[in-house]
Amino acid sequence: MAINQLKSLPKVDRILDSLMAENGGPPRSVLLKAARTAIEDARRSLVAGEAPSWTGDNLEDSVLERARALVALDMRDNLRRVINGTGVVVHTNLGRSLLPSVVCDHIVNVAGRYSNLEFDLEAGKRGSRFSIVEDLLCELTGAEAAMAVNNNAGAVFLSLMALAKGHEVVVSRGELVEIGGSFRIPDVMASSGAVLKEVGTTNRTHMRDYENAIGEETAMLLKAHTSNFAVVGFTATVSLEEIVGLGKKHDLIVMEDLGSGSLVDLSQYGLAKEPTVMESVAAGADVVTFSGDKMLGGPQAGIIVGKAESVNKIKKHPVARALRIDKLTLAALETTLRLYRDPIKRMEAVPTLRMLTLDPEVIKRKARRLQARIKKLGLENLTAKVKAIDSKVGGGALPLQNLPSFGVAILIEGRTANSVEKAMRKLELPMVGRIEDDVFTLDMRTIADDEIPLAAHAAELVAGKS
Ligand SMILES: *Cc1c(COP(=O)(O)O)cnc(C)c1O
Repeated sequence: MAINQLKSLPKVDRILDSLMAENGGPPRSVLLKAARTAIEDARRSLVAGEAPSWTGDNLEDSVLERARALVALDMRDNLRRVINGTGVVVHTNLGRSLLPSVVCDHIVNVAGRYSNLEFDLEAGKRGSRFSIVEDLLCELTGAEAAMAVNNNAGAVFLSLMALAKGHEVVVSRGELVEIGGSFRIPDVMASSGAVLKEVGTTNRTHMRDYENAIGEETAMLLKAHTSNFAVVGFTATVSLEEIVGLGKKHDLIVMEDLGSGSLVDLSQYGLAKEPTVMESVAAGADVVTFSGDKMLGGPQAGIIVGKAESVNKIKKHPVARALRIDKLTLAALETTLRLYRDPIKRMEAVPTLRMLTLDPEVIKRKARRLQARIKKLGLENLTAKVKAIDSKVGGGALPLQNLPSFGVAILIEGRTANSVEKAMRKLELPMVGRIEDDVFTLDMRTIADDEIPLAAHAAELVAGKS
């Protein structure tokens, strides 16, 4: 029966003509590809002896409908906005930090026009892109010199290559961290040409371990922030101050990879104490590296601050060019850093800082508003419940920190949490949440006020399909 229908499969031209007639926008090549795929899918289903799952009464109509859907999918951007209902503030899979709105404005301003990216307007001659954020970074961190590259992995790699290639770098075994996405300290070290000299044990490293490891070939003592894990229990680490003291004694470079690298001591807002960039600089490290888009809340970038002698060597290394920061990123980084000059305003203006320090009562009010909106929809199969949950910082920072938060649990009659999660994720404006106690839940910490109506609409769409 299905096989008989093969003869009535429409020709490509017929589908293409229909698509062209109704679709002014997409290029012909896109329409043609969709027409071919839709017909081919239908043919395969019929040959397999089954009606295509999307077949209506009329084969041609349903092929056309399928082709229309394929065109829409193909014309949609691959990189799209999503709503983050996970409560993970610096969510690496969801784009890490959100840029402050003034930063977005400045990017637009610089992107579509010429700029003084590498032009010294005072002198009327070639300038350096490094100079754009150097003074600000020095002012904010207390460092002598600074530069920014593409990302922190690049900052670590470049610093090792410029300062320790062919020499030994001493690192505690407790700090040989893997960040995810294949960034591992030992591997980065190997690719930079520096030689890893592990000291101590996983849980305990002492001053004497560092001392005993120093030899003719040693160029650097490296401290790496453990970021996404914590060693607890019977532990011992050597402070950066002590390592700096040892470095001075033996004339070695001391570098710290801070990972997240906050410019604000968030312990004053009730979070656990994390080392700040200012503290590492004050402790006397020659080089400190950190990310632009983790706790800093700016664009993806790797920031290197420290002593002029070391930073200048890094700037001059030929590979610096390969890791150089793009002008849009630079525009974003500069504007973000400018916000940091005001200790009060930055907590409101930088979304990452704002979301990390949100008062749970404010989050609860957001949850209630979403609940009320969902209730107003009047869908019998849809229930929303406000509940206390915990959010996470993310971005490989404060892995043990739970931030008290509130979520909205969305229950749809006859649907499992997994099926709701999947449907939410596949919406035109995808809604990413998490499953808490077997219920799909939106953590309101990372959902903006103006996203509450969108979240309610998402629930309506998903419940409406049930
Ligand atoms: C995140 C992190 C990196 C890598 O930084 P990116 O900005 O993702 O390149 C390197 N080191 C540590 C300790 C980190 O936490």
